[in-house]
Amino acid sequence: MATKYVYFFGNGDADGDESMRAELGGKGANLAQMAKAPLSLPVPPGFTITTDVCQEYYKLGRKYPADLEAQVDKFLAKLEKAMGKKLGDENDPLLVSVRSGAAISMPGMMDTILNLGLNDKAVEGLAKKTGNEKFAYDAYRRFIQMYGDVAMGVDHDKFEAILESVKNKAGVKSDQELSVENLKEVVAKYKEMYKKEKGEAFPQDAKKQMWGAIGAVFGSWMNERAIKYRQLNNIKEGTLKGTAVTVMAMVFGNKGDTSGTGVCFSRDPSTGENVFMGEYLMNAQGEDVVAGIRTPQKLSELEKTNKKIYDELCKIRARLEKHYKDMQDMEFTVEEGKLYMLQCRNGKRTGAAAVKIAVDMVAEKLITKDMAINRVEPQHVDQLLHPTFNKAELAKGIKIASGLNASPGAACGQIVFTAAAAEEWAKAGKKVLLVRKETSPDDIAGMVAAEGILTATGGRTSHAAVVARGMGTPCVCGVEAIKILDAKTISVDGKKYKEGDFLSIDGSTGAVYAGQIATEDAKLSKELDTFLGWCDEVRNNSVRTPAVGAKIKGFGVRANGDQPVDAENAFKFGAEGIGLCRTEHMFFDPAKLPYFQAMIACDTKEMREKALKDILPLQKKDFVGIFKAMKGQPVIIRFLDPPLHEFTPKDKASINEVVKILKAQGVKMDAATLEARFNTLHESNPMMGHRGCRLAITYPEISMMQTEAVVLAAIECQKAGIKCQPNIMIPIVGEPRELATIRSECESVIARVQKEKGVKVNVTIGTMIEIPRAAILSDEVVKSADFYSFGTNDLTQMTFGYSRDDAGKFLDAYYTRNILDDDPFKTLDKNGVGELIKMAVNKARSVKADFHCGICGEHGGDPESIKFCYEAGLNYVSCSPFRVPIARLAAAQAVLASKAATKPAAKKAPAKKAAAKPAAKKAPAKKTTKK
Ligand code: ADP
Ligand code: MG
Ligand code: MG
Repeated sequence: MATKYVYFFGNGDADGDESMRAELGGKGANLAQMAKAPLSLPVPPGFTITTDVCQEYYKLGRKYPADLEAQVDKFLAKLEKAMGKKLGDENDPLLVSVRSGAAISMPGMMDTILNLGLNDKAVEGLAKKTGNEKFAYDAYRRFIQMYGDVAMGVDHDKFEAILESVKNKAGVKSDQELSVENLKEVVAKYKEMYKKEKGEAFPQDAKKQMWGAIGAVFGSWMNERAIKYRQLNNIKEGTLKGTAVTVMAMVFGNKGDTSGTGVCFSRDPSTGENVFMGEYLMNAQGEDVVAGIRTPQKLSELEKTNKKIYDELCKIRARLEKHYKDMQDMEFTVEEGKLYMLQCRNGKRTGAAAVKIAVDMVAEKLITKDMAINRVEPQHVDQLLHPTFNKAELAKGIKIASGLNASPGAACGQIVFTAAAAEEWAKAGKKVLLVRKETSPDDIAGMVAAEGILTATGGRTSHAAVVARGMGTPCVCGVEAIKILDAKTISVDGKKYKEGDFLSIDGSTGAVYAGQIATEDAKLSKELDTFLGWCDEVRNNSVRTPAVGAKIKGFGVRANGDQPVDAENAFKFGAEGIGLCRTEHMFFDPAKLPYFQAMIACDTKEMREKALKDILPLQKKDFVGIFKAMKGQPVIIRFLDPPLHEFTPKDKASINEVVKILKAQGVKMDAATLEARFNTLHESNPMMGHRGCRLAITYPEISMMQTEAVVLAAIECQKAGIKCQPNIMIPIVGEPRELATIRSECESVIARVQKEKGVKVNVTIGTMIEIPRAAILSDEVVKSADFYSFGTNDLTQMTFGYSRDDAGKFLDAYYTRNILDDDPFKTLDKNGVGELIKMAVNKARSVKADFHCGICGEHGGDPESIKFCYEAGLNYVSCSPFRVPIARLAAAQAVLASKAATKPAAKKAPAKKAAAKPAAKKAPAKKTTKK
């Protein structure tokens, strides 16, 4: 049998259903699902051409598979029969919309054509048949414009200019005030302009129009906007087959005051509250609502003006939520009092809404906790950690206007009026607010660059609002008080604001303020706390059985933090320990730096030891602070790592201070000698030079002082009744004997201090795996280690041989030339670096079966890398304090994903047990038979 390329829906039935997203696109799959039982919602009939055709279309060099035309003809005939009208009929034409839709929703990225099938004769027929000439010509002028723009590439502005001029001449403000004569004039002028632009008359053949539109949709899959959208959303080219095309019968919201069109959400997409909300316009067609041409009315108004339709919508809202078990974003049209559903999908939402909806739906028993965990994206949690305005500053702020709270979060910046300017200014390091009448898909890059987005028109479902929410960028829409005066000036209530002036916006309240208002970091909400608690349960209860070594219970999340304040933050965000405390940051503290500089200036061991004595108590104090903040959880303290020249004084005054300190320590050295000495520390390749454990090999007294500080801090805590678990970590080990040597020196210090103080403490010693050689020799290195932490920043740098500081210069070319997919410094390179990690872990565990391993590079906060770490058998990940909540979620998702991946084996479980589960009752054998 030939491949089935076309799927019908309508007449209460459908060929496809929601499980066919990959083939029918989200829109087509959900239209089919809504049309058929049990939902059986009022959906106009139509058919969907699969994404396979799109894939073929590009494979064949923009040609259709041979069989397509015949299949389309067959289903078009079926559609005509269902509607009792024929496409192109001059007396009673069937009009259709041609819509696009990929498996993943890409709002506003590809274009829909409405009212297709009209021509000079059919418009007359439609007028007669409906007795509504104004409607017929309104539909025709819309069609010529959309078709001309989307399918034929005639500049949108040229149509707008004609429309504007007719409106001006007629003295009307809005489109729907145009008379039949005016509309006829618009149509005539559109066609004339079209002919001039294209060198041929506007196509009159309806079939030709239809194929032109289908081609335009498939063509739009590779337009700049779509490609950019996929890039911004990390959808790799080739992971989707393409877009599907849906051709469906038109229903008309522009037939007068008993008709209209709208968009609604089953819950508030901004806050997640369980309220029905949406926007609609009477006497309008689809795109009018989202385009922000007129500011739409709230759905609550519909309840007052048309209770019957409103109630019907409420019922549909409830049924769709129950069916999809998720918040729905719906499109509807009312034609002369009859309601039609045109689209439904799981609604995009803010981070706050995602968490609230997930938590609420578990309470409503609509979804399980595991489902809730998969509903919230790491990015959503990230958004919740975004700043709000400082309360005191806000009280002093001058509110100049307000609009719709379209995407939450506080933002402050210099205003710019074009996307290009936003990009340019942001590149120059400025914080900008993008101010537009309304945004369009062409503004994407500027919207990404902006701190916040402010528009003069448009509602909560306008392009600006939808896109801003997706990006987690604060946005205030529909601020009607904003008047755009010229390209570089706006006015609000008569006061002018020029490009570069500061404004502040609150996307949570819709308020706009003059000037700059300081922002503050967010705190975790109660809901997020509950939600992350569920994530922790999943993580902590996970059990892995690795190929090498013992069972691994739990998957931890720790934080990287150098100072007590970092540790406090980390703890607040739920970190279970410090995975990396870099001690050099402590030395950069202005109170300690000159002492450290004095130490490195010394040329004998005795002198250095003297100098180190001054640093010891300061370092100990830091450790005590961190141990206190972590309340008994493990803290990995990495010993001195960077090359010494990074610490040398940069000016005369600093050098003189070191001279003073040395003098107090009984060392006479003048400024010139000192400077010369510092100059000798310069290295030509410092990152591969005298750093890390190499410092401990040449100057053992440094690591011994650090060990002493750790032990003293632990003893002090212990005496004060504060629990602590100090772990010493030696960096840059590449040869097992490096670690063995340093370890024995550290151990001697631990033994000595314990004896002196008469107190025993538990201090472990491990190493950072960041030199490929250490990974290769892991079964030797492990003999001197109590634990490993993978320092994936250096490990990536050393494995690729890319300098982290210089890679930016060439990596872009690697992405565009398809040599690399991702930045290996952001997302862990599984094939290379990942293999080294797995090898090191397995070799270590072949010696010590329950050997403890973690990661402390940047990758520890990256969701995709976290998934890898789980699969590779690491015991925990460690990331920056502000990413800890994201990591807690990503870690739980990694656990669930790995459970799901091993499910097929679970299928063999006794049938009785599966049937006993309540969830299994509702989902009969259907799912398993489908494939
Ligand atoms: P998008 O993906 O940009 O939302 P859609 O395909 O959903 O594009 O269509 C754009 C607008 O046109 C929507 O408001 C939709 O409801 C409306 N629309 C699409 N098909 C029809 C139709 N057959 N009858 C009436 N309105 C339609
Ligand atoms: Mg569109
Ligand atoms: Mg839509």
